[in-house]
Amino acid sequence: MTSDLVVRGGTVVDGAGTRRADVLVRAGRVVAVESGIAVAGADVVDAGGGYVIPGGIDVHTHFALPVGAVTSADDFESGTRAAACGGTTCVVDFAGAGREPWEEALATWHDRARGRAVVDYGFHLTVTELPVEPEAAARRFAAFAEQGVTSVKLYLAYPDRLMVDDDTLGRALAASRRTGVRVCVHAEDGATVETLVGEAVAAGRTGPDAIPSVRPAAVEAEAIRRAAGLAGAADASLYVVHLSSAAGLEAVRTARAAGTDIHAETCPHYLDLEQSHLEAGEQDFVCAPPLRGALDRAALWGAVASGDVEVVATDHCPFTAADRRRGTGGTGWTDFTQIPGGLSGVETRLSLVYQGVLSGQLSLERWVNATSGAPARLFGLAGVKGAVLPGLDADLVVFDPGATRTLDASRLHSRSDRSPYEGRVVTGWPVVTLSRGEVVAVNGEPADARPGRGRFVRRSPILR
Ligand SMILES: [Zn+2]
Repeated sequence: MTSDLVVRGGTVVDGAGTRRADVLVRAGRVVAVESGIAVAGADVVDAGGGYVIPGGIDVHTHFALPVGAVTSADDFESGTRAAACGGTTCVVDFAGAGREPWEEALATWHDRARGRAVVDYGFHLTVTELPVEPEAAARRFAAFAEQGVTSVKLYLAYPDRLMVDDDTLGRALAASRRTGVRVCVHAEDGATVETLVGEAVAAGRTGPDAIPSVRPAAVEAEAIRRAAGLAGAADASLYVVHLSSAAGLEAVRTARAAGTDIHAETCPHYLDLEQSHLEAGEQDFVCAPPLRGALDRAALWGAVASGDVEVVATDHCPFTAADRRRGTGGTGWTDFTQIPGGLSGVETRLSLVYQGVLSGQLSLERWVNATSGAPARLFGLAGVKGAVLPGLDADLVVFDPGATRTLDASRLHSRSDRSPYEGRVVTGWPVVTLSRGEVVAVNGEPADARPGRGRFVRRSPILR
């Protein structure tokens, strides 16, 4: 029997607003949020006037993802430990590496996470095919939901490995409407990208500097328009992962204005980093969609502030510098298509988005909403996580708005030896992270972050 715990002397920020309050935690849950809580014998966490926020929920991670001959640098142990140190207490990871049967993908990912995760986790499934018969497609989605997996991702890119055609996406959207399993899309038009890649490589443009021109913002916007049209026709909801560009954002806004139920997520790297890294040939900045320009960054910050982009997740998929150089073939890359793509982010997300609060670009409430409230609401975790409310899991972060931190890989907990933010100093960092009432990180370092204490979270169907 663990004792009661009081988080005292902080300013609580969540979807209900900002207020001075103490938080009483009992048996892993929040039981009271009010001022002046005093319980004899309770453990006390002194919030020291900092913010007390719901633990971050990162709905886009790729732990232990095989990409050809190499594997993303963080497994469920190092990835969730890094998450805890950065104030994230729940991740939703993408199960499935290719076209394997979904039962196999789910079993593999459960095996990878079980006994290793430090904080709670859920799974999305990657869908590369669906039964042609609509009833059978809906039964497939219902089977996912029975497993506690209430979201899927379909790729409009990567023709050889992952891409689906419009018929498959349409069937998925129809099945989504019937089952409450959310459809997410990787929105880049794969056929156009293939053509542009072929032209670039044939012309001898084989370095990372070619990437912005072969994966331009127009292919993101085009894919969003196509997917949104299918969602509208199916009267279904659509979620766009890792929105990277002003053109893509415009496509989201246009679809929404036309009545489509469309949601969007962006990532810290699209808010903070620019394609100049690629233009300089830096392979450590390869990801898809690629980094963009200053105007795209500004548009995305504005959309996170307004709520047009509801979620900031990370697409955490780092590689070591050595694995980048080995390439997906394992013997060194000869053109940019063989550079393993993805950036680190799970530990730095909360603080990096908070920099937008510091610069006056977004409110405290939008910061918290984008990093925990909206992900909980959109991914079947409402009533479980994502707010500081009685009855919810005591996944809480005490955030010191004055703490500074250097975002070098040597100070962070990812197994990748390169942070895309190397040399950057941020203001504002979690000082205590609680997962279901247990302290898992203090001052950005693991504290009793026992592998295996993290639990699989069964998520509910997503009602509209
Ligand atoms: Zn991803």
